[in-house]
Amino acid sequence: MHTSKHSLEGTNHMSTVITAAPLAGRVAIVTGASSGIGEATAFRLATLGAKVVVAARRKDNLDALVARITAAGGTALALPLDVTDRSAVNAAAEQVADRLGQVDLVFNNAGVQLISPIEDVKFDDWQQQIDLNITGVMNVIGAFVPQLIGSAAQGKPADLITTSSIAATRVLEKFSVYSGTKAYISQLTRLLRVELGRKMVRVSTIEPGMVDTELPLHVTDPDATRLMADLINDIDVLTAADVAETVAFIASVPRHVNLTEITILPTQQAV
Ligand code: NDP
Repeated sequence: MHTSKHSLEGTNHMSTVITAAPLAGRVAIVTGASSGIGEATAFRLATLGAKVVVAARRKDNLDALVARITAAGGTALALPLDVTDRSAVNAAAEQVADRLGQVDLVFNNAGVQLISPIEDVKFDDWQQQIDLNITGVMNVIGAFVPQLIGSAAQGKPADLITTSSIAATRVLEKFSVYSGTKAYISQLTRLLRVELGRKMVRVSTIEPGMVDTELPLHVTDPDATRLMADLINDIDVLTAADVAETVAFIASVPRHVNLTEITILPTQQAV
């Protein structure tokens, strides 16, 4: 029986299920890498051998992450980027190919959640979610799909993994626009897989439940804020590292295996 502290920690979180370096030789880009799920995933992909480009707007956070990855023996490049700016994303794709080679793993993760009753008519909040969760996601796909197809044509594994949410399928009051953007991502994944799977590019989406990140900090509706705060207080919610391990697993399985839609919930989360 294992009684060491290390093995006990391992039962709390799934953060190191995969061992060895299954992602050696891979080149990854992670959007939304300045905090939360993106930050944890970028770190984990680098630990498993991938060279990782970390993209988001907050340069200081990206630089700190690159320093952490480098100190742990990995390779990373900070790319300050607003993914809603299409020409900036296209320029970034060229820059990444020049510096690190063709990207073969895209973790299309940047997103924002702004919850409000529809009758409050918060046009700006609606627009911000649509701009980032839909247009931003499409900008990244448009810029990097040629590199994914190119990598797959060379016989490498290639992954397009986008962060959706359980909100894509569940009916959560006041989550309307956010849920709509995430439903878009889940359905988009199913459709893109038909086209890209033929070219050996795997297309996946993860649909997490409550993960303890900065996401709720942007929510201004008091009921929604309370709902999320209560979940974090009352149950053992997911950590960003739990989601990171799931993404790493999707990218680490053999090339002919496509884990397409993965829902990951805290065990005690009811909806
Ligand atoms: P965070 O708020 O911690 O992360 C969001 C990330 O997106 C940040 O790195 C932020 O960086 C980045 N971002 C925001 N706007 C832009 C932009 N215009 N251009 C580039 N990057 C941007 O929250 P999470 O880690 O929780 O969120 C990650 C994803 O997970 C989101 O898509 C979210 O919808 C999804 N999700 C989260 C759940 C949760 O419970 N936490 C549950 C289900 C899904 P910066 O501000 O520096 O640009």
